[in-house]
Amino acid sequence: MTVTGPAELLATWEAGLARRGPARAHLLHRAARPRAADEVLSALPVGARAADLFALRRALFGERMEIRLECAACDEAMEFDLDAGDFAERFARETAADGDAVGRGDAADGGGARDAGEPVPPGSRALAQPGEPGKPGEPLRVVVDGWEIAFRPPTAADLAAAAHAGRRAAGGEGFFGGGGDAFGADGAGGGGATAAEEARFALLRRCVVTVRQDGVPRDVGTAVRALPDRVRQALSEAAATADPGADVTFGVNCPACGEATRAELDIATYLWTELDAWARDLLLDVHLLASAYGWTEPEILALSPLRRRYYLELCADA
Ligand SMILES: [Zn+2]
Repeated sequence: MTVTGPAELLATWEAGLARRGPARAHLLHRAARPRAADEVLSALPVGARAADLFALRRALFGERMEIRLECAACDEAMEFDLDAGDFAERFARETAADGDAVGRGDAADGGGARDAGEPVPPGSRALAQPGEPGKPGEPLRVVVDGWEIAFRPPTAADLAAAAHAGRRAAGGEGFFGGGGDAFGADGAGGGGATAAEEARFALLRRCVVTVRQDGVPRDVGTAVRALPDRVRQALSEAAATADPGADVTFGVNCPACGEATRAELDIATYLWTELDAWARDLLLDVHLLASAYGWTEPEILALSPLRRRYYLELCADA
């Protein structure tokens, strides 16, 4: 078990400030599996990465994740809790990547205080149902309307490449989010549709291993552009079943109007927001303690969160 200390976490935060999207998510993934090689991390299915990030979140900030969102129908503010440990275990792959994943522990402030995962309140229910995970290395198979397709679920590297292809098509504008319905045919409206489509084609080209139409093998590069919506839908569904953590979607019923709101949880973005707040608080602590006692940053970071808080209280009382 490796739990990253405050100095390493601050370094991760500092490096992450200059990055966006997939690069930042990769940085967080490396914090979750400090001993794994970059190529190993990039080759994991996105759902497996999500499992690692949920485990990191649990190790750093505890089990209970507070989710806030607004009702899509009446704008009522809604709040509920999710259990990071539950997701970490549900989405974990049987064959873990090389290197230690984070376990339980309290590297950052507040980890132990929020230990107990609270039950998800009535009205919210997880829509993402874990399916039967495919055997690693063995392609998934979909047969629909005469099309027979062998493919694998997208990895972080696939998503990054697809996002790049989309940005190129859009003339530099980024748009590409999660991976769950990445093969789907529901393009964004207006000018974004072409970019979204190009990103999906790029993703299909990378993930599809073989295509047969009515028993005849076809070239993957051209065939992915000819796939009917029903086939792409089937691919999306099969990928989501094999790699359920890739698309964490849940439905919440509004207590005010009763309408259901669907929301997607991007654990990388969620965790980054928390890490950012934690780092800024910690730097403020360092500033206050350094000013009061003349200690150096490494000396202050070496203090346990409890001692740090105690000295800060003494400063405030003085
Ligand atoms: Zn409502």
